[in-house]
Amino acid sequence: MTKINPYKNALRQFEKVAKKLKLNKDLIVNLTKPERIWQKEIAIKMDNGIKKSFSAFRVQHNNFRGPFKGGIRYHPDVTLDEVKALAMWMTWKCAVVDIPFGGAKGGIKCDPKKLSLNERERLTKKYTEEIFNIIGPHKDIPAPDVGTDGQVMAWILETYSKKAGENTPAVVTGKPLELGGSEGRIEATGRGCVVTIQEAARNLDIDSSKATAAVQGCGNVGSVAAQLLHNLGVKIIALSDSKGGIYNPSGLNPSDVFEHKKETGSVIDYQGAKNITNEELLTLPCDVLVPAALENQITQENAHNIKARIVAEAANGPTTPEADLILESQGTFVIPDVLCNAGGVVVSYFEWQQNLKREHWTEEEVNEKLEKKMVGAFKKVYEIHREHNVDMRLAAYMLGVKRVVEVAGMM
Ligand code: NAD
Repeated sequence: MTKINPYKNALRQFEKVAKKLKLNKDLIVNLTKPERIWQKEIAIKMDNGIKKSFSAFRVQHNNFRGPFKGGIRYHPDVTLDEVKALAMWMTWKCAVVDIPFGGAKGGIKCDPKKLSLNERERLTKKYTEEIFNIIGPHKDIPAPDVGTDGQVMAWILETYSKKAGENTPAVVTGKPLELGGSEGRIEATGRGCVVTIQEAARNLDIDSSKATAAVQGCGNVGSVAAQLLHNLGVKIIALSDSKGGIYNPSGLNPSDVFEHKKETGSVIDYQGAKNITNEELLTLPCDVLVPAALENQITQENAHNIKARIVAEAANGPTTPEADLILESQGTFVIPDVLCNAGGVVVSYFEWQQNLKREHWTEEEVNEKLEKKMVGAFKKVYEIHREHNVDMRLAAYMLGVKRVVEVAGMM
């Protein structure tokens, strides 16, 4: 199978909304081209004393609505086109939930699991020195994504602050609490995703306390989404990670599974469940399917076999445009990534606000504000979906892209 290019998918999604909103050609060119593409081979000394270089990227897509904002990914498959797609999706996402940020993304092509802690630190600090001039609390604010976490953000903050000559907590979000991180940030993406699932279930008359769900990916986002769904009474019938998945139609206890993963390195071989492949997980009979790993999981090859009534896109870009058409024709309700996983950037915005105002909000306050934002955004997107008879992705794009275009018209 040829590798699907996520940037081509992002462009196709944008072209669809551009046509619907009747955008003129100049504006289309303006909104498709990233404002800046930074890429460089950066070299660090490995623990064995040998220098090794890594491809590093930062793409700033659009800042009409506010500073660039977007995570940093450490993964062996990172490419420039993937980072360009993720940056563009960030622009629309921030607009869908109406927060004053633009879109950006960064990445380093590396396998973080094969780097020692010291190597990861050196790589992160080198990367930060290189992008120092283009990031900043009012320019571009990175955050965690696949393969990065609060520790990586702490190294970025340390390096940036040293070079800037002042402590600058607002330069990154997703930091540890001790360094100015926000309560609720680690759980925010999974929590926001669950809020949108509850809203969707309400509209589709699905009783969430009797529903079943399968979650692909057990990282930051997937594990929180699975746990919160379980807490709501949803039966988690399958979970997976990069090594494979597990299935038990009677339900799994996520915290037990995560304990097993901590001990063994994977969810597979969990006692009381059958091992399955990631591909099998996607087509299990269930009410809610939560892809929470990487792009291009639901394609024209397997979309026909998806049995879930709701696909909640916790990951970015898990569904290709061809698969979208198939899901729509079979009546699957898709909560698109730019809405479903926006909880992370919403709480990143709260973190940034707290840093700038030197405040610290309680977890209850953060979660309450997050829920309000997510419910409000869901309702607006759902309204457009019903009023214009378009799928939820196009509805979300109509909302987000229109908001960016409105600002463009005034500049
Ligand atoms: P993570 O690194 O914490 O976890 C990724 C998970 O996916 C891991 O469990 C890994 O084993 C699994 N995985 C990797 N390759 C896989 C494969 N081929 N098949 C199945 N599972 C695989 O990353 P994360 O932060 O949880 O991000 C997951 C997704 O959510 C990404 O698409 C990311 O862009 C998106 N997202 C993350 C945030 C955030 O706040 N972290 C915000 C918005 C969107």
